[in-house]
Amino acid sequence: MTGKITFTMIKPAAYQNLHAGKILDMILANGFRIVAIKAVNLSSNLAAKFYEVHKERPFYNDLVKSMSSGTILAAILEKENAVESYRTLIGSTNPADAAEGTIRKYFGESIEKNAVHGSDSDENALKEAAFFFSEFERV
Ligand code: GDP
Repeated sequence: MTGKITFTMIKPAAYQNLHAGKILDMILANGFRIVAIKAVNLSSNLAAKFYEVHKERPFYNDLVKSMSSGTILAAILEKENAVESYRTLIGSTNPADAAEGTIRKYFGESIEKNAVHGSDSDENALKEAAFFFSEFERV
């Protein structure tokens, strides 16, 4: 399956502001298939573990706090060249730099509240998908 899946989260602020439906519409309209999806509240321990790769970065504590501040929608998405295709759809990390028509441009409020997460490599997509979903939860 490598190359065909990516992992996303609709972040707490976007979920709280009722943008999940519109974001899922954009995902589906761009040809992704939803393989698994669930709404979850991440504890700060789980958020810290998920973002462990960023542990040394100055924004790590803020990121963990933000991602455990409310409900998120986690999903595995399938498409050819899924990781790159989804990174294009979501746009730059900072919504201020994101291209017109991207998810972060429409729904991001700031670099921290940038609406969605998207895996940055095939390897991380597989790891992140496995962090959230068992085989039984995937279709
Ligand atoms: P991404 O792959 O585009 O999500 O970006 P990164 O992997 O570099 O960073 C992970 C997440 O950390 C981003 O989605 C942002 O929400 C957050 N982040 C990145 N840079 C900063 C920053 O300078 N300040 C804050 N507060 N958050 C940041």
